[in-house]
Amino acid sequence: MPAMHASLPHSTLTFLACIVLSTAGCGKQPQPATARQAREVMGTLAEVTAVAADQTTARAAVEAAYAAFEQVNSLMSDYRDDTEISRLNALPAGESFVVSPETFFVLQRSAEVSQASGGAFDVTCRPLVSLWKQAGKDNRLPDQAALSNTVAVVGWDNLKLDPQSRRVTKGVAGMQIDVGAIAKGYALDLAAERMKAAGATCALIDVGGDLVAVGTQANGGPWRIGVQHPFQSGLIIKLALTDCAVATSGNQQRFNLIEGRRYSHIVDPRTGRPVQQAPSVTVIAPDGITADTWATVFSVLSVQEGLAKAKELPGIEVLWIWGDADQPQSAKTPGFDHYITP
Ligand code: AMP
Ligand code: MG
Repeated sequence: MPAMHASLPHSTLTFLACIVLSTAGCGKQPQPATARQAREVMGTLAEVTAVAADQTTARAAVEAAYAAFEQVNSLMSDYRDDTEISRLNALPAGESFVVSPETFFVLQRSAEVSQASGGAFDVTCRPLVSLWKQAGKDNRLPDQAALSNTVAVVGWDNLKLDPQSRRVTKGVAGMQIDVGAIAKGYALDLAAERMKAAGATCALIDVGGDLVAVGTQANGGPWRIGVQHPFQSGLIIKLALTDCAVATSGNQQRFNLIEGRRYSHIVDPRTGRPVQQAPSVTVIAPDGITADTWATVFSVLSVQEGLAKAKELPGIEVLWIWGDADQPQSAKTPGFDHYITP
């Protein structure tokens, strides 16, 4: 997860409806109040909307969400030396330490998604991400030896996780963790949980375009979200969401430019190479961590492989957009249409 940056990436998803203050709706609350705040967190722009019985509770719920983001950032950012992930990255092979329940949960879920995706998802891919970032800075493709040596230290099953003690052990020298493809989704779920505990009845939590919708808007209608067109300004689709999450991966604005060619920031851990012709992938799932992780997986798998894989995953709907501005192409899982709104 990056630290704060001066210029923020554009959001791929946009909240469409105006907030209606003090209207009936949102479940059974008679006259709910809405509070909304945008702030910079985890290197991107977040926007949190809380609906609660009164303004004070709604504001407290918004604060609870930002506290959750700060907690995740202080445990998992690799832009800070003092986080658990950075301390893990600094450990030599064979050494271990006990991490927080939050970090352990994220690493365990990562391993599960790695297994379920045949290794397309891998939080130990950081050495590869660094190799391609450096190649971008040098404006030179990495040589085959460097690529092979780096692939050799990547492998999710070399990260040993003991659920009883929450002890994490690095199995291989040079192993490095990057939770950039999962931590945002986890942070959204944690924020949703904390907001409900703080008294929010409904909420919309958006971090850089990945979002979780809790319940409905204050007027009782679903949260309406616009998905940014990957190749031009404007929206490609509008979604109506209630009690679910949505994440978009394959952001066209994040790439390494090497010898005049764009290389995706998402790598295929199996080959060590950036994914080619990365489509823009939008995933709707029951929670943030599922949407975030699988959006990354579907960026690595081909559309064909992804369509087959999605059939095995209940509650997950996917929209792929690829090609270019002149000839955009798309595919979606059959259930995706259920969320599309005019
Ligand atoms: P996302 O935007 O959620 O798809 O996450 C992309 C980020 O996750 C990248 O910027 C890398 O830091 C990291 N990453 C890249 N490729 C992978 C991969 N195959 N599995 C897990 N994390 C990855
Ligand atoms: Mg992701």
